[in-house]
Amino acid sequence: MKQWEKNIRKVVPYVPGEQPNKKDMIKLNTNENPYPPAPGVERVLREFNADMLRLYPDPTVSLLVEELAGSYGLNHDQVFVGVGSDDVLAMAFLTFFNAGKRLLFPDITYSFYPVWCDLYRIPYETQPLDDNFRIIKEDYYKENGGIVIANPNAPTSIYEELSVVEDIIRHNQDSIVIIDEAYVDFGGSSAVQLIPKYENLLVVQTFSKSRSMAGMRIGYGMGNPVLVKALNDVKYSFNSYTMNQTAILAGVEAVRDARYFGDCRNKIIKTRERAEDALRELGFTFLQSGANFLFAAHESIPAKEIFEALRNNNIYVRYFNLPRINNFLRITIGTDEEMDRLFAFLRQFTEKYSKNEKF
Ligand code: PMP
Repeated sequence: MKQWEKNIRKVVPYVPGEQPNKKDMIKLNTNENPYPPAPGVERVLREFNADMLRLYPDPTVSLLVEELAGSYGLNHDQVFVGVGSDDVLAMAFLTFFNAGKRLLFPDITYSFYPVWCDLYRIPYETQPLDDNFRIIKEDYYKENGGIVIANPNAPTSIYEELSVVEDIIRHNQDSIVIIDEAYVDFGGSSAVQLIPKYENLLVVQTFSKSRSMAGMRIGYGMGNPVLVKALNDVKYSFNSYTMNQTAILAGVEAVRDARYFGDCRNKIIKTRERAEDALRELGFTFLQSGANFLFAAHESIPAKEIFEALRNNNIYVRYFNLPRINNFLRITIGTDEEMDRLFAFLRQFTEKYSKNEKF
């Protein structure tokens, strides 16, 4: 190895779900929203002109920060925005977890957390979920350098009641606790309501799922002004202009249209309920979902085989070949039509499989 090579930072990167772009595919593998963003977003894009790109965007992103703050009943100094919640979480790890003590998070959760720990050299210790994939809150009573909980959790889809989340925050008032709520709009209560009570709480959300804007990359963190200032100080020490002009204007429109947001989320919850019935009939069991996806296992067919059969037929779901979860499929909730095609395929596949016929 060359001398200069020795000094290169070596990291094992996070690998996101594949992004195939095929005609007629059904894409249920990365928890995107099957519906378009609010109509106002479309209007902003139509009215956008190239000259609007000539100037730098507002580094404080005040239009979007104010809109978000208003919609959550917060002050503008309690909201931080970033390029997707991955960016917000990456900034938060860099800003908050410097105690040299171990960061705690569940053994089965968003697999980006250990990647940021390795990147920033933050020590961490995973806490096993119980046999039903639930958080054991007492595991988080020990000394730590911070805590991160995804609620609902990914990829399990399980939502823990706010009382569990609050118990963990209450027991850890000397650490910063991040609640990653990428999926909370699909059935859970947000920890945002706990912000006035706990100075050590940062709640992170995203426009990628419930607001149908994964391609725009907008995420935000909410917490007390000391946390938000610290995040902004680190962000301005890294890159002043992370939020581009298009994202700022489009994001504002998405937040303004509360009715569209509610309708869209209700449609997905309804389809999720239909999907649960249909999958149950086909011999699947799944964890109780509070998210826009189901985490499902079949009673007799290995998940990997179903995953591959689906993929060969242009239906993409997510499969994790990891201990404890390697017999599950993570299936994003699509439109009713997409889900019907999924069920039709699975009906044929499971019938043939049980007769030992080749598919
Ligand atoms: N948190 C969780 C739990 C997620 O599943 C995801 C989606 N991969 C994210 C955060 C990041 O989403 P985004 O960067 O698109 O906001």
